[in-house]
Amino acid sequence: MDNKQKDPNNHKPNNEGDRGKQIGTAVIISLALILLFSWVYNTISNSQYTQTTYSDFMEAKETGNLEEVEIRLDRILYMTREEAAKDPAQQRACYTGLPVGDYMALANELEAMGVKVDVPIVEDNSMIISILYYVMMFAILFFFMRSLTRRMGGDGMMGGFGKSKAKVYMEKQTGVTFKDVAGQDEAKESLQEIIDFLHNPQKYTAIGAKLPKGALLVGSPGTGKTLLAKAVAGEADVPFFSISGSDFVEMFVGMGASRVRDLFQQAQKVAPCIIFIDEIDAVGRSRDNRYGSNSEQEQTLNQLLNEIDGFEPSKGIVCLAATNRPEILDKALLRPGRFDRRIIVDRPNLQGRLDTLKVHTRKIKLSEDVDLRKIAQATAGAVGADLANLVNEAALRAVRKGRKAVNQEDLLVSFETVIAGTEKKNTVLTDMEKRLVAYHEVGHALVAALEKHSQPVSKITIVPHTSGALGYTMQMPEEEKFLSTADELRTELRTLVGGRAAEAVVFGVQTTGASNDIQRATSLARAMVSQYGMSEKLGLMSTASVSNQYLDGQAYMDCSQTTAYEVDQEVKQILDSAYADAKRILTENRSLLDEISEYLLVKETITGDELMAYVNADKQRLPEAETEE
Ligand code: ADP
Ligand code: ZN
Repeated sequence: MDNKQKDPNNHKPNNEGDRGKQIGTAVIISLALILLFSWVYNTISNSQYTQTTYSDFMEAKETGNLEEVEIRLDRILYMTREEAAKDPAQQRACYTGLPVGDYMALANELEAMGVKVDVPIVEDNSMIISILYYVMMFAILFFFMRSLTRRMGGDGMMGGFGKSKAKVYMEKQTGVTFKDVAGQDEAKESLQEIIDFLHNPQKYTAIGAKLPKGALLVGSPGTGKTLLAKAVAGEADVPFFSISGSDFVEMFVGMGASRVRDLFQQAQKVAPCIIFIDEIDAVGRSRDNRYGSNSEQEQTLNQLLNEIDGFEPSKGIVCLAATNRPEILDKALLRPGRFDRRIIVDRPNLQGRLDTLKVHTRKIKLSEDVDLRKIAQATAGAVGADLANLVNEAALRAVRKGRKAVNQEDLLVSFETVIAGTEKKNTVLTDMEKRLVAYHEVGHALVAALEKHSQPVSKITIVPHTSGALGYTMQMPEEEKFLSTADELRTELRTLVGGRAAEAVVFGVQTTGASNDIQRATSLARAMVSQYGMSEKLGLMSTASVSNQYLDGQAYMDCSQTTAYEVDQEVKQILDSAYADAKRILTENRSLLDEISEYLLVKETITGDELMAYVNADKQRLPEAETEE
């Protein structure tokens, strides 16, 4: 990134430098405090006395004006008769220097004159004792200051306050394994390599392979991202550090960065280990937003990038981060060598929910009548956390009712309180909504499958998706493609509007569910007209430029008002024709659409193969003319 990252390998010396600085600071502060104390002490003790000259003292002695004399090691304190006669509160003693020499002679002389004399107690080792006294004072102060500066976070002169409150949580053993995580097979598979690496880093370094440093777990709240990360640590049997992105974001600038540094320092001491950063979007938000940047967040993010680049992968530190908004993350975080792997943690489908219920009822006594499958069927859209909560509520209810085991009624009632009660918040769909979503998704898939140029569909699901889509159709490119023909793009447009077309053809309604499709279709059509030169009317003229290809790739129009109007007309025309085509395709294949949609409603997730089986079976029944234009 910027200059902060110039030398990612200088962590060690830096830390030692920090420590030296800390000690130096403590020494200086301790010495200064001692000097200050002795000065204050002297000033206070002297202020009770008035300084006089030796002649004043001698004069008082000669005139017999002395009441009391105290000879100290370095001075003579004395009180005149006039002062001694005063009220004790107003008496003021004087002091003057003690001439070097035999003070006993002076004492004897005064004694003979009838003055009260006091002489110092001189011990042989008084010098040593006073030195020891100062040394001890220094030592105590030094250790006190040292621990203080250290807790205030190694930035020397109380620079960062970060460490004092660093919320870094380390678990030596998480005790969680993959057995505790139901479903999520794809995520587990992707994480398997990381576990293997933590078990045996040498195997990878021996070949010279660059090891994964980080992976991003993407999924809605409660889908088990934290649980998965813990399970990775448990499976690999390494310590687990966790911190939440929101912990980094503090009021004081520099605090977040100091916490990041602290976290990685601690982790490096016990490597191999897992560092888990929850809600990474709190720090990792893209820096190039148009609302101006937040220097604290930016500093923390820089430090995080710096640390990730800095650690030696062979040490066996793996950074896992969780987010439900991967699209807002800074591009720098996602670059190779950082969080370059993305692991999707989806909401569970029917089987996944059933497995989750099974995991959470393992330790719970269930009565005979319990049918977990029914509960799993009822909870479409619920995430792992909801299901865990549901089971617990049911157990609590059973206890309240004085029963020894949880029965089906307990589960059903707590389903209503836990999930249906939060219906608005969580995406548990009504039956009608489910039908609409199913037809919408099959609409996309069927148009794609029936079009010759389209890529085969790999998966259709009506399990609400992390991104907030209620269902989705995943198209799997067979091979990586860099070029698309105009025909292929038109097919893509038809597929995109296929969802809305199905809603219109079957139910005669328009729903908000298609908004993302429409947006994507529109920007694709606009790009075809303004950037790819694929419109007949405008030809090869480019009417839009890409402002910053490496940030968001947004294009802005650079043409006259009239041309912009024409572009809009062209875009509309392209979209209209794609929509009409999609509607025609679906009307012609209405029975197929119904069949697949009903099947999807039951299964919730169907694979591309299952879809193609329906499509191919249908083709054999009535050989149909190509639905190409
Ligand atoms: P996230 O980090 O994604 O918000 P958590 O990992 O904190 O979610 O999950 C919260 C709880 O939900 C877990 O402690 C666990 O009890 C339960 N849970 C979530 N997903 C699963 C799953 N796949 N299998 C078993 N339990 C799960
Ligand atoms: Zn759609």
